[in-house]
This record gives sequence, C-alpha cells and structure tokens, in this order.
Amino acid sequence: MTIIVTGGAGFIGSNFVFHMLKAHPEYRIICLDKLTYAGNLSTLEPVLEQDKFRFVRADICDREAVEKLFEEEKPDMVVNFAAESHVDRSIENPGIFLETNIMGTAVLMDACRKYGIQRYHQVSTDEVYGDLPLDRPDLFFTEETPLHTSSPYSSSKAGADLLVMAYHRTYGLPVTISRCSNNYGPYHFPEKLIPLMIANALADKPLPVYGEGLNVRDWLYVEDHCKAIDLIIHKGRVGEVYNVGGHNEKQNIEIVKIICRELGKPESLITHVGDRKGHDMRYAIDPTKIHNELGWLPETKFEDGIKKTIRWYLDNKKWWQDIVNGEYQQYYDKMYGNR
Ligand code: NAD
Repeated sequence: MTIIVTGGAGFIGSNFVFHMLKAHPEYRIICLDKLTYAGNLSTLEPVLEQDKFRFVRADICDREAVEKLFEEEKPDMVVNFAAESHVDRSIENPGIFLETNIMGTAVLMDACRKYGIQRYHQVSTDEVYGDLPLDRPDLFFTEETPLHTSSPYSSSKAGADLLVMAYHRTYGLPVTISRCSNNYGPYHFPEKLIPLMIANALADKPLPVYGEGLNVRDWLYVEDHCKAIDLIIHKGRVGEVYNVGGHNEKQNIEIVKIICRELGKPESLITHVGDRKGHDMRYAIDPTKIHNELGWLPETKFEDGIKKTIRWYLDNKKWWQDIVNGEYQQYYDKMYGNR
C-alpha cells in the first residue's frame, strides 16, 4: 500500500504521517508538501531517512509535478491535508485559499482519475457548517447540516467538499470526506490559539483574546483525529462524509485561563482585542455516525491532552522558537538544498 499524504509537513498532516508509519509499518508513505510558511520540514526529521517514507516538495496546484509523482509512485490512496488553513489570513488575502484549497483539490483528483486510485480522502473541517448560536446548546452539526460558511477559508473548504462529491457522482471517483472540529497537540503552528497562548505566556507577553472570548470551539486531540482518518480510509463507505469530534466544547477564554493555570502565569496577561470579522460563535460536532459505523471514539480527555500539549511545547522550545524567529524556513535548503 502506497499513500500520498499532502500537507504532511503541517500540523495534522505530520501527526498523521507519524501515526501511519507506526500503525502500518508495511505501508509506503509519500509526503507531498509545498512548504509554505506553515510547512516545516524539521517536523519530519525523525522519519526523513526511513525506507518507507519519502518527502517531495511540490505544490498540489502544479499538475505536472503531481502527475510525475503519481507516475513514479503509483499510489493506492491520497489523503489531502494540504491547505491554507488560517482564518485570519483568509480574511486578509482570500485568493491563495481558493487556489490551494479548491484548485489544488481538483488537480489531485484529476490525477487520481487519470492513474486510478483505491481511495481519495479529503480532510475537511466543521467550519463548512457555519456556526451555531450560543444559547442553543442542544444543537450540533450532523453530516446533513447544510453548508453555510462564514469566512473565505471555510468557503474554500466547502467548495472543495462539493467538488469532491461531484467527482464521486460524475466520474465515480472513490472518495471519502472527514469534517473535524478544532485540533490541538504537538507541532501546532504558533499562530493558532493554543500554541500562541503557550508561547506568549511563557514569555510573559500579553495573551490577545478576540472580543470577550466567549466563542465556543469543540477541541480534539490531534492523535484522535489521525486515528479517525485511518479508520475512514480503510473502513469508511465510499461517497460518505464523516464528522469527527469529541464533545469537548470550551470557550476561548476558558482555554486561555487553563493555559495560564497550567503554566503558573497570571490571568492579568489576558488582553481583549477587537473581534475577528464575521467571527463564528459556536462549533459543535455530532460524531454519532463515525461512532456507530466505524466504532471510533476519542481516546484522549481534554484535561490530559492539554497537559501533554503544554509539556510538549515546554520540551520542544527550539521547534516553535525557530518558527517564531523565521529560522525554520532555511531548514529545507540545509537538508535538500544541493539535491
Ligand atoms: P497547517 O496549516 O498546519 O498545514 C498545512 C500544510 O499544507 C503545510 O505543511 C503547508 O506547507 C501545506 N501546503 C499549503 N499549501 C500547499 C500547496 N499548495 N501544495 C502543497 N502543500 C501545501 O494545517 P493543519 O492545521 O495541519 O490542517 C490540515 C488540514 O486539516 C487542512 O485541510 C485543514 O483545513 C484541516 N483541518 C484543520 C483543523 C485544525 O484544527 N487545524 C480542523 C479540521 C480540519
């Protein structure tokens, strides 16, 4: 079995690469990643020299490069994590989100059609469902919830999801889609809420919270997401969408206070800043389908996962400090510059 994992130098993709190499030592895992600002080759250092692993730097929008890789590797599956993923950046500059998230998905699926594939899996997000009101805790996103996006990021992900289902219906491409809630854990890029707050708190810098911080997100430990995708690509039904989430809703302000407490830092570091444009109020996933059909359940409780995550950021300061000061971007040249 050969699997192309796109975006494998990013947060969730790298965790998925590690998971797959461990869970399926007989599989060949090919990481295709453009190494944008969010991709970090040093993350993959522990596996770069392994026989069953190959790293290829390429853009999923580059048809020629994608087809060349398909010809060389004849993959059995593609799992597409590659995306522009930061909502704030999508508000500043939507164009690149449409290119990578929609056009890139089309290029990958065209290659799957041309060369044949057992499974194309699209890693999507609960943000395609829009948001839920704070005063209706009884409401959850199911796979039948209509797509109703708020940001250019979520719109580009929803566009890709629609295209994936269209390729299934029109061309019979064997696809699956997972829509997961917010992930946290090791290798999370330090512009996102949890790692940003950990990094700032450690430096005694202000902890910027949008508005009152009452927005609710449904947090899942990244390993649990990787295990869900592993199950879906092997046992999930073709043409189906699976929601992935652990019923772990927390207000942003609660998360920041937990981080302060765990690090022994004062809550006076919290600084309320102007709210994000179009800020979604509440995300909450109903994971009944993946539980009933595939037996998936999250294994990591939030109280343990957040402790593990904070410990990881304390033990791996070089990883995120290199990002904060920009040094990680020179890593590719150091590793592959003359190859
Ligand atoms: P990330 O930003 O950490 O990583 C994205 C990776 O994709 C990076 O390595 C980047 O270099 C690569 N990439 C970007 N554009 C590319 C291109 N054109 N060609 C090849 N590679 C490219 O993102 P993440 O948080 O790991 O998210 C991965 C996927 O999971 C995304 O599709 C995202 O929409 C989805 N998702 C994320 C979350 C979350 O909480 N982070 C939740 C649900 C779904």
